[in-house]
Order: sequence, then C-alpha cells, then structure tokens
Amino acid sequence: MSDTDKLYGAMGIGKEVLAYGNAVLEGLLDRFAQIDRTAEYNQLKVLKAMQENQVSEACLLGTTGYGYNDLGRDTLEKVYAGVFHTQDALVRPQITCGTHALALALMSNLRPGDELLSPVGKPYDTLEEVIGIRPSRGSLAEYGITYRQVDLLPDGSFDYEAIRRGINERTRLAAIQRSKGYQTRPTLSVERIGELIAFIKGIKPDVICMVDNCYGEFVETREPSDVGADMVVGSLIKNPGGGLAPIGGYIAGTKECVENAAYRLTSPGLGKEVGASLGILSNFYQGFFLAPVVTAGALKGAVFAANIYEKLGFDVAPDGSEDRYDIIQAVTFGTPQAVTAFCQGIQAAAPVDSHVVPEPWDMPGYDAQVIMAAGAFVSGSSIELSADGPLKPPYAVYFQGGLTWQHAKFGILKSLEALLRKGIVSEEEIANAMEKCRKTKK
Ligand SMILES: *Cc1c(COP(=O)(O)O)cnc(C)c1O
Repeated sequence: MSDTDKLYGAMGIGKEVLAYGNAVLEGLLDRFAQIDRTAEYNQLKVLKAMQENQVSEACLLGTTGYGYNDLGRDTLEKVYAGVFHTQDALVRPQITCGTHALALALMSNLRPGDELLSPVGKPYDTLEEVIGIRPSRGSLAEYGITYRQVDLLPDGSFDYEAIRRGINERTRLAAIQRSKGYQTRPTLSVERIGELIAFIKGIKPDVICMVDNCYGEFVETREPSDVGADMVVGSLIKNPGGGLAPIGGYIAGTKECVENAAYRLTSPGLGKEVGASLGILSNFYQGFFLAPVVTAGALKGAVFAANIYEKLGFDVAPDGSEDRYDIIQAVTFGTPQAVTAFCQGIQAAAPVDSHVVPEPWDMPGYDAQVIMAAGAFVSGSSIELSADGPLKPPYAVYFQGGLTWQHAKFGILKSLEALLRKGIVSEEEIANAMEKCRKTKK
C-alpha cells in the first residue's frame, strides 16, 4: 500500500472506494489532458491581458473614500475587458454576488415599457424575484418591465419559431443563461450561444444579448462575448475569482451597457469614477490569474464525479463522456436521504468546518429547502468544493468546484463513502461498477 493510500485510509476512505476511484480515473486521462490544454490557452490569454495593460505593483494597492483615480481598479477592468474581448468592464467588490451583478445589468439596461426575453427557459432561481416572476419588492415588474419566456424544446434545442414570435417592438434585452443552474437541461456551449444570438439579432439587431456566464468562465477557450454577446455577467466567488476573490461581481460588455450598469451601481453622474477598492485588488488580480487552472481542476472533479456515479447506475448530467460547458455536475439520487448524505460527505472533505454536519434550510431567494455543503475559505464560494441540492423532486445534487483537482477527488470519494455508510450504495454495487471499468479498459 502506498503512503498516499494509507493517508486516504486514515482520512476515512475505505479500500473499495479508493480502488474504484482509481479505476475510474484510469479511463479519464485523455479527457484530463484536453482540459489541461484549454487551461494552457486560457492562462496565456489572462497573462497577455495583464501584460498588455501594464499591471504594475501600484495596481495591487487600493484606494479609500470616494476612490477617485483608482489605478488598480481601472486597470483590472481593462484586464477583464481584454480577456473577454469587450469594450469595457465593471469589476467591483461593491457588486455583492452573481444575482446582484445580473440584477444590475438588467435594471440598468432596461427602461419602463421594455420587455425582457429569456429564450432558454426558466432562469436561475434567484432571478425569479429580480424579474418578478415570483412577486417581489423592487422587481423589474414593479417598474413596468415585462417578461417573456420561451422554453427549450424537449430535446434541449432552441425553439426558434417561438423565439421569433416572442420578439416584439418592446423586446429590449435577451437574457441567455449559459449554465444549467438548478435544472437538468444541458448547459449551452459558446458555439450554441453564438447561434442563438445571431438568430435574435437577425430578427431585431438592437436587442441587447446578455449572457449569465456564471460557472462558465474559462471552461472553453472562447467566451460568449466572442460570439456576439453584448454583456457577460458573473460572480467573482465562482470561476473568475480563482478562489481568492472574497466578494464581487463583473459585467463585461459594450461601452454603453457597462456605463449604464456603472451609473446604476453608483449614481447617475458618477458611474465608474467612484468606488474605492479598499485592500481587495491583489486578491482580484491573483485570483483572475489562477482562474484558468482552478477552473480546470474543478472540471476534472466534475468529470470524475459523473463517471463515478454513472457507473453506479445514477442519472448524471452531463453524462460521463459528454463535452463540458460549465463546472457543474448534477447527480440525481431520487431520495432526500441520498442528497443529504452526499452533501454531508462533501462537507466532511472540507478544509474548513469539516466537523460540522449540514442540514437542509430555507435559503433566501429559493422556493424549496436547500442543503449546502461548503467548508470554504470564502463563505458560500462555489468555486471551492461545494455541493447543494434543493429538497424537491427529482432530488438531484449539484456538485461543483475544488480549488485543486486533488481536493475535488478526495471530496467525491468522501461523498461515496457517506452513501456507502448510510446503506444507499452497497459494497457489491461498487464492486460491480469496478468490473465495468475493467471491461471497458480491455
Ligand atoms: C450562481 C448563479 C447565479 C447567482 O449567483 P449568486 O452569486 O449565487 O447570487 C446566477 N446564475 C447562475 C447560472 C448561477 O450559477
């Protein structure tokens, strides 16, 4: 037994689970090499933007008070614009989370009487209240901005005919969510997003196409802004923060869209000129620098989890061999007990709070109880190893993150141990799944 295996044993991973994990891993080496090639490209892309914008030691310091002439903040926004190939960007600690960034992008670019279109079905849960799908104080609906939704077809493709019918003289903005979020539909590739944007602009060229880019950054070599999106929007405690950003959100896009957002975030007349960065910029820079490799580690974890659970007979999305367009892995367990055990296993693998046991709770912005496993350095960060599941049918968990692939691997093995110990998966089932790995190898 190797020293590493002994350490796994000492940390609660039994021989069967470890052997199964390693057998699964043997079949994934080519895919991991592909993920590393994407990371290599994206690492260079980020580095190039940092060099071209002359990031200097002075940029790592921060301002206080009004934050006028904040060199580091303004340069960082140029770096983001450089990476996303957009005219401008807003990257701020004053944007508190992804939902806030999306709400800001919408509220600042829509006016009373406008209509918002989602051509990809129901948006992320928290946006329901932003839009007013679920009545909520301060929603777009309260300001006279209407909403229209076109669902994906049952096979996951775009309903082009319904989208064409849905676009009218009031349609001002199309919100396209790249990642599946808490749904089991497929995540959209950058290529498909480009096709959708071209279709929408072909019907009405002045529709602003905004992409909710959460969990998608650096998964491919291109971003939605490379295929026509006017705005890409996301959270810094997901992929682009690289695990180091302790707060923040970004909007990268056309000058006009970004300026609208800035005037709404701060104030008309002030826009991007104010907003002290305090001491946070070195984390933003360093996190963005690490983000391509951190994202690659998380992707490997997602692919590994898919293969581990698929071979055990669970429904996984994406499946074990599909291409990936975000870092989320859904596993449908079918029972609340299994969802809870899985999340408790992930929690037990954490570097922080591994000793606490997560329980389902009523989380603000969500319409069912949610259980979350997150023993993270940054509270709620989901680029760190984390899992969550709404306690409602089909009882799926959404697993994501891992600042390092090694940690993601450990977490997934730990989740399987938890299912084994609760009797949800048996040793015999693991042995059978392992047999499947051997057969596919031959
Ligand atoms: C996480 C996420 C959001 C919301 O971000 P928060 O930071 O949790 O507010 C929105 N859309 C998608 C697709 C997400 O994954």
